[in-house]
Amino acid sequence: MKVKIALLFLVLMCALKSYGSVLTLPTCQFARSLDTEVHFYISKDILDEYSPQFVKAKIDAWIAYSNLTLKNSCIPTTRRVTHVEYVSQIDSSWFQDIAVAERLLINELNRTFPEVNKQGEPIFNAIVFANAFDSYKSLYCGYASSSSFFFTIAINCPDSILEHEIGHLSGASHDIKTLSYYEEFDLDAHRLSTYPPLKNYSLGYICGERGTIMSYEDNHMPVYSSPDIKWNGKECGESDRADNRRVMVEFARQYSKVSLIND
Ligand SMILES: [Zn+2]
Repeated sequence: MKVKIALLFLVLMCALKSYGSVLTLPTCQFARSLDTEVHFYISKDILDEYSPQFVKAKIDAWIAYSNLTLKNSCIPTTRRVTHVEYVSQIDSSWFQDIAVAERLLINELNRTFPEVNKQGEPIFNAIVFANAFDSYKSLYCGYASSSSFFFTIAINCPDSILEHEIGHLSGASHDIKTLSYYEEFDLDAHRLSTYPPLKNYSLGYICGERGTIMSYEDNHMPVYSSPDIKWNGKECGESDRADNRRVMVEFARQYSKVSLIND
């Protein structure tokens, strides 16, 4: 009997725990959404470590995580892969310097990279390396340009990294805990560090023990910060400083007359 009671208690505790861990998402329907292209330029030396099938599966996983995050966050945007190209080895030292990596790629391919397609929809360009750690022991899995739609990304990084970097390119920033890691951090100076300047409400957020996609929390969720999203009843954003959902919706509206039915 004691064993049965102990088992019953265990089952009850598990049920309460799962009941208590709830991600509450906004409900919305898109009347129209912005379709964005993602182009991948892959340093050929990746094939020394990974098969082409693995690389394709990883790209598919990155894109699936992006679309899940956008859908969860009720952002009228989708991502799709429209170009994958293997290029001669780009020195992995430049993984951390996106401006140089972009220049090397342009020189290598000798072509221009328009920021929008014929429909006026954005094209994001990923330069893919084998290992972030190869570049002076980089602590980060990707770097986003502050002046173009290019970013670097390493194949040995989590599925969430692609959307995190495209989030940066769209005007989203980290949570205050991550930003404050650096001493003498100044939020106003940070906002002015990119052009156009970051919006006042462009911070990521940590709600409970979980972070939104622009945070550096180990436990992060496929959502952008928004007071309309809740984790265990705690709001995952603040309307005046941490509403990256709003940042992303406004980015989409710049390129397309996107609209939400419940707007
Ligand atoms: Zn970041």
